Amino acid sequence: MDADKVIEMQSVTTPTRSQAPRVLILGGTTEASEIAKRLAARSDVTVISSLAGRVSQPRLPAGMVRVGGFGGVAGLISYLLNEKIEVVIDATHPFASKISGNAELACNTLNIPLIAFERPPWKPQEQDLWRAVPDVQTAASMSNHEGSRVFLSIGRQELGAFSDCIDAWFLVRAIDEPNEKLPANSKLILKRGPFHLNNELQMLRSECISLIVSKNSGGTATYPKIEAARALRIPVVMIDRPLKHKIPTVARPEDVLLKLAEFL
Ligand code: NAP
Repeated sequence: MDADKVIEMQSVTTPTRSQAPRVLILGGTTEASEIAKRLAARSDVTVISSLAGRVSQPRLPAGMVRVGGFGGVAGLISYLLNEKIEVVIDATHPFASKISGNAELACNTLNIPLIAFERPPWKPQEQDLWRAVPDVQTAASMSNHEGSRVFLSIGRQELGAFSDCIDAWFLVRAIDEPNEKLPANSKLILKRGPFHLNNELQMLRSECISLIVSKNSGGTATYPKIEAARALRIPVVMIDRPLKHKIPTVARPEDVLLKLAEFL
């Protein structure tokens, strides 16, 4: 879906809308959908979820939904004003740092409360064989070795960093067809989580995977690949999260709701 093409799944400017405080959730995560579901069931708030539009068939959260970029900080400020948003909840993916920076700037400018949710990162356990790296480029250079069979599971936006990796073979998994050039020696599988341990074990074994490249996304939906790597003693190149928030964050959807109660 074109991120610049804004789609409103349900009009957010209908004249019959209630006078309840309007809350914008910057979404795209399981937790954002969980928060939306809980708020949509209440009559004391009106909830609108915003999705970037990165996947062609998004799982739509409960309540009103809009899809597509706002047009930078200025666009987000206009949106917040036009839609009379009273509180913003940033529950975006831990690697989506631009939208979080934009939300902080826009909310600061308008003096609108911002609640920042960030799910905890995965922590290595004793049997894990992780090499932490700061970015995808480093991950690419660390995985390009002759004879390596790499499971590349970082989403589709940054796959281009691996396009010059001609020595290793890659099993690339993404939700939608990537636009970026894939490595010369690769096989693409299109699948959406949540994933399950038995299937991950079976896939890693049958493809003879010797290395996994992953983002430290946290959460449960994609964690089975990490558990499978542990069980099979497969090393993982783990890409660290970018610094995303300047303000304090909360780590559980329940804490988002408690914070929201303070502002409403
Ligand atoms: P980003 O770099 O933070 O954002 C880039 C632009 O996308 C933003 O400036 C904004 O456009 C738009 N955008 C992002 N989230 C939005 C939202 N919830 N509602 C409306 N517009 C939004 O994020 P990204 O490009 O989507 O993703 C960066 C990394 O995060 C990816 O590599 C991917 O691994 C990971 N990720 C993201 C998502 C997601 O749902 N976004 C899901 C899974 C993983 P404007 O400036 O025009 O407002």
